[in-house]
Amino acid sequence: MPLVQQSPYVIVGAGIHGLSTAYHLALALKASGKGDGRDIIVVDKTGVASGASGIACGVIRNNYYQPAMRELMAHSVAVWETDSVGYSYHPVGYMQISSESMHEDVSSIYKQQCDIGYRSVFVEGAKDCSDYMCHIFDDWQAQGITSVLHEKSGGYANNKKALMGLAAKAEAEGVRIIGGCRVTGFRRDNQGTIEAVETALGDIQCDYVVLAPGPWAKQMWDMLEMPSTVNIKNPDTGVISQDVPMWVYWSLQEGTLGVDPNLQQTNDGRMPPVIHVDTDAPLYSDVDGSLITDKMWGIYYKPDFNFGGIQGGAAPFIVDKKADEVAVDPYGPESPEFIVGDDFSTMWVSALAHCQKRFSGKMAHYKSEPSGGIGAFTPDSFPVFDVFYENCYFIAGANHGYKMIGVGKLVAEEVCGQKSALLKPFRFSRYAEGQLHPVSNSPFPWS
Ligand SMILES: Cc1cc2nc3c(=O)[nH]c(=O)nc-3n(C[C@H](O)[C@H](O)[C@H](O)COP(=O)(O)OP(=O)(O)OC[C@H]3O[C@@H](n4cnc5c(N)ncnc54)[C@H](O)[C@@H]3O)c2cc1C
Repeated sequence: MPLVQQSPYVIVGAGIHGLSTAYHLALALKASGKGDGRDIIVVDKTGVASGASGIACGVIRNNYYQPAMRELMAHSVAVWETDSVGYSYHPVGYMQISSESMHEDVSSIYKQQCDIGYRSVFVEGAKDCSDYMCHIFDDWQAQGITSVLHEKSGGYANNKKALMGLAAKAEAEGVRIIGGCRVTGFRRDNQGTIEAVETALGDIQCDYVVLAPGPWAKQMWDMLEMPSTVNIKNPDTGVISQDVPMWVYWSLQEGTLGVDPNLQQTNDGRMPPVIHVDTDAPLYSDVDGSLITDKMWGIYYKPDFNFGGIQGGAAPFIVDKKADEVAVDPYGPESPEFIVGDDFSTMWVSALAHCQKRFSGKMAHYKSEPSGGIGAFTPDSFPVFDVFYENCYFIAGANHGYKMIGVGKLVAEEVCGQKSALLKPFRFSRYAEGQLHPVSNSPFPWS
């Protein structure tokens, strides 16, 4: 027998998207007089923060080349700012520091940030960039940097603490969160509308389902009998690429340098912005001086007391397997297959030292504990937010997710009948219609 046999709204997944949707839906129902949080249950096969949200670096930024992503992120940053204590959010800002190959892209991001009123400073030219960075960190030494975009908002949040804060807000509104409840399928009527969510504990009848499965998106997609491939229209040529796999996994590379987080204080003794560097400057090993790469590389890092050091990551890589063959469980650091190896630690710590002298000679402090995890990406690596079978809202964040706390608010509004212009560019139909997002020169699939 399930703990609950019926609920008007069932949300699957207690990560950032499921919990944000639950909390904001509870508020929206109450405001409209149509119900309240007691009409909502969240089910999770494990519990709160047991997926990607619980291991995320937690970086929150606006810096996206795609206008639709940027507007969505500006909305999400505003939601983080509503309760920085409750969400364990650190509004330290964010810096995109780039070599010339990305100058034009980042310049257009800055212009569009000005248009939407998102506070940022843009610095151009090698000398001005070096001066700007040295004014913040006197040991800044990265060469070949020709643009710095300094976002004054954004920063990072403590992954699990933020989720606990969100769960507490939802529960205070009457939402019930049920852990240890694995969804196994959906019972649908003749039209395909979902009548009940089938779980290992029994069926839960419902009027509306919101699915927020994170890296388990493919499994949930398959349960809904959705297509495993899509046709994608090229917006410029009209040529259609047939049978492109709907899901592909990328392995996220993150780790922690176990030094005092205060080591990364700014010249004036403050906690610094999150740093993200993309460059084609040759990268040499800080251990033996050998060349690591002379191709484009990228890293991000921040001091983080939660992780106990300087925490961050590098560009991810595609999991070279058909999606059907990828084992998502055990997830994250518990997966021996997808934790980062020595290649990552050498590259990442050397890259830290490339940027700031204070990290030189610190390789021995790298924490050898397992870290990293995989994400389920869509064909264009951007999210899909859409309704299927009349009453099933699918939130597939394509690993952009943690920062997008505002998506749940917009989804809640859509569930209550109010269409969102911010979510419209992320419908599933964009592939067939060729309404694709522009692609940047960043080495990361989510920029
Ligand atoms: C290492 C790493 C670092 C990252 N860093 C950042 C970052 O700095 N900034 C950023 O914005 N994003 C980051 N991301 C991406 C971000 O973490 C995810 O996009 C986001 O957390 C996904 O949230 P979600 O709510 O969709 O999924 P999740 O947080 O994964 O939650 C999904 C939940 O669904 C549950 N579930 C799955 N299947 C079932 C089932 N059958 N029945 C019941 N429950 C089920 C799971 O147990 C899980 O709790 C990172 C990702 C990784 C892996």
